[in-house]
Amino acid sequence: MPFRALLFDIGDTLWHSRAAPPAAEFRRRAAERAAEHLALLGVTGADPAVVARTCWDALEDAMRCARATDLREPDYGLVAMSALHSLGVNLGRSEAAALLEATYISGMEGGKSPFPDAAAVLSELRRRGFLLAAVTNRAFGGERFRADLREAGLDVGWDAEVVSVEVGYLKPHPANFQHALERLKVAPARALMVGNSLAEDVAGAQAVGIATAWRRCTPDAEGVVPEFTFDELSELLSMPALRSSCP
Ligand SMILES: [Mg+2]
Repeated sequence: MPFRALLFDIGDTLWHSRAAPPAAEFRRRAAERAAEHLALLGVTGADPAVVARTCWDALEDAMRCARATDLREPDYGLVAMSALHSLGVNLGRSEAAALLEATYISGMEGGKSPFPDAAAVLSELRRRGFLLAAVTNRAFGGERFRADLREAGLDVGWDAEVVSVEVGYLKPHPANFQHALERLKVAPARALMVGNSLAEDVAGAQAVGIATAWRRCTPDAEGVVPEFTFDELSELLSMPALRSSCP
């Protein structure tokens, strides 16, 4: 059956971090943001660099733990609140969440660059009539995510934007893919998931009956076989299965 909808992973599929600033520069910017934010909250006596680093480490630990267990997205506000308590900075959950978000350097500022053919390929697929959904693992959704996409030139009028933190689960949990299909009103057999991770994108989509196109990179899973494989996004445009959409 011809495809009606294309689901796209974002990181290392549509944009990459090859030109990202060094870790020390991230830390410097995060500390600067933390200082501004702590001043707004009237918190004194805490080292902003330590605050930013502690929040970030706690976020990464929580995400790692979720990936290794039930894939349930952590409540990052609570994670940050508890980490800050350990530094003697006592904030409520929403204040801690806002501080964490303020110190999170993302998008173009975080060194993300769209692959040169990404926007043109997405636009052409849309012209061919395909519904397009972004299906991404991210700790921050909402306007922050949409702004990052806009700045990267990847705001192509998505028919659905599925962000793990908004769904409550990380890929490869089926909820993310099912959420995209529901939003698009498309059956699994009419959708193709495009992504660079065998473990998260390919295995996750296949588990709910969605075919996959893998952007070849260092494999992160064994025994997972995508239906299609490509190196450059522009190759999607010459795939017979993607010549045109069939409503
Ligand atoms: Mg990816």
